[in-house]
Amino acid sequence: MPVASKVPDEWRDGFLFVGNHLALDFLNTRPIWAEGPKELLPDVDALVRWLVASGVLTPQKGKTLAKKWKPMPEASVFLRALLKFRERLRAVVIRQEARLSVGTEFIAELNSLLKQHPRVIALQRKGEKLDLDAAFELEKPNDVWAPIATSVAELLSNAPPARLRKCEACVVHFLDTSKKGSRRWCSMNICGNKIKVAAYQNRQRAAGKKMPRGR
Ligand SMILES: [Zn+2]
Repeated sequence: MPVASKVPDEWRDGFLFVGNHLALDFLNTRPIWAEGPKELLPDVDALVRWLVASGVLTPQKGKTLAKKWKPMPEASVFLRALLKFRERLRAVVIRQEARLSVGTEFIAELNSLLKQHPRVIALQRKGEKLDLDAAFELEKPNDVWAPIATSVAELLSNAPPARLRKCEACVVHFLDTSKKGSRRWCSMNICGNKIKVAAYQNRQRAAGKKMPRGR
């Protein structure tokens, strides 16, 4: 368990939530720790825990589905497909960050997922307000495509590429929602301090180089 788990806003149940977007938080389920890349979704149990941590499922529903999905072969098949999709999404996000357009193949794949797994929405009363929200319950593992595909489509259609960024010190991606748009790292606790120390050391080295040499 990473040390930063003490920070409740950034870590929930061992998963990182610094992306400011469900699609990016999903992408960030394969971070790289000091000891190398770490798959945070190694099995169906972990996937259900991530769905609960990200708010897609209620804890109660998560418990029911974890029990139901665990013995289902189609759940592992789905998870393998989902993780492959995540890596294709990574390539797309990296392209977007470089201001390159999304490939036609990926758009077609996403549209096919959206068609097969539409996200049903409905107007719901939330206190005094009315909210347009998801109105379907996940039952089969394949149903997870609905929230994932929708959030990816929202990311690619709504998020300004200039605000899509990879942390300067690690592989985590995020949507910069700060006022100034100057966010540079996934988190101050994880990489911010690391970058500051490195920058300080670089400045020190540069200052050392500029020292006048005797002629
Ligand atoms: Zn980072």
